[in-house]
Amino acid sequence: MTTLLYSHEACLDHDPGPHHPESPDRLRAVLAALAADEFAPLLRREAPRAAREDIARVHPGDLIDGLLAAVPKSGHVGIDADTIMSPGSGEAALRAAGAVCAAVDAVVAGEAGNAFCAVRPPGHHAEPRRPMGFCLFNNVAVGALRARDVHGCRRVAVIDFDVHHGNGTQAAFESDPSLFYASTHQYPLYPGTGSRGERGVGNIVNAPLPPGAGSELFRVAFTDTILPALAAFEPDFIIISAGFDAHADDPLASMVLCEGDYEWVTRELKKLAAAQCRGRLVSALEGGYDFHALGESAAAHVRALMAA
Ligand SMILES: [Zn+2]
Repeated sequence: MTTLLYSHEACLDHDPGPHHPESPDRLRAVLAALAADEFAPLLRREAPRAAREDIARVHPGDLIDGLLAAVPKSGHVGIDADTIMSPGSGEAALRAAGAVCAAVDAVVAGEAGNAFCAVRPPGHHAEPRRPMGFCLFNNVAVGALRARDVHGCRRVAVIDFDVHHGNGTQAAFESDPSLFYASTHQYPLYPGTGSRGERGVGNIVNAPLPPGAGSELFRVAFTDTILPALAAFEPDFIIISAGFDAHADDPLASMVLCEGDYEWVTRELKKLAAAQCRGRLVSALEGGYDFHALGESAAAHVRALMAA
């Protein structure tokens, strides 16, 4: 089965400023890595804009309208110290959430085996009522609720291996037993959530890791904690919050994963998806701030998605 790649030029026009780590060059690095010959078999599609009703399953309508109305005509507008909008931010945010929705639709329809959404701004810190942490709309949560409410998936899981805890996804999911969220992340670290004790209604699994954690602790967290809990949840659809900032070269955190760890975890999630939900798997880019490590890590991830 083919792997789909969703992206859109508009995602390069969200520009939080020249000294901001979440720069358009991140996405350029991912797309450059995925331009190599080995990725020629990817089925490439432009991300559509998310419909307001899709975003509104996660974020209240007044927040959506207020956020889009606050997009500046020129210069920058800060939502908080880290979360900055430029004139292109509204369109980029709509395309980022729309990519995950379209990828869910395509995988459910059997147009591809799985999909990767190379988009920004990222989404996993965006809580239903609060954009934060470089994130405007929670792209994976929007896609998860579309899988459930439009396609009738009874149980949808998001697995997050970004080095930061996805507080926004957890907040959107924690009281709803039809949704499951599991995360490995450096702890303590921004945004401060993600302790083992945060369990929602039994549908949240946090596997916090200490600074300096590498391949071994990461793989043990998946093998012993996250994969068994995910299998027990019996998902109908799996979405990955694919952040690559736990890489050893990343400047924002101090875990020491390598490209091979991303290939490994992707293969494990693919195996579980094949066994549990006919392989239905969609992944969306979250963090990753060393351009070279990000490109190589995203390539390893997509290589594993494409593998037979
Ligand atoms: Zn991150």
